Amino acid sequence: MRTATHTVCENMNHRRRDAPVSHCPQCGGVVNPNLAKTACTERVHADMRRRQSVYCVHCGERLIIPR
Ligand SMILES: [Zn+2]
Ligand SMILES: [Zn+2]
Repeated sequence: MRTATHTVCENMNHRRRDAPVSHCPQCGGVVNPNLAKTACTERVHADMRRRQSVYCVHCGERLIIPR
């Protein structure tokens, strides 16, 4: 059985030295710790949810909860 770590994530932001976002939209891992943490509004999260982002790229909060 394989455990879920962020090494399995193939989002391209992990490979970039200066990713444009602080968190990965697929696994929620930090891809750029140098970016300031943003306080998001519910509208921002709703918009990202529509774009199929599982995690918020600004604050790392989980947007889509699997059932
Ligand atoms: Zn990731
Ligand atoms: Zn957010």
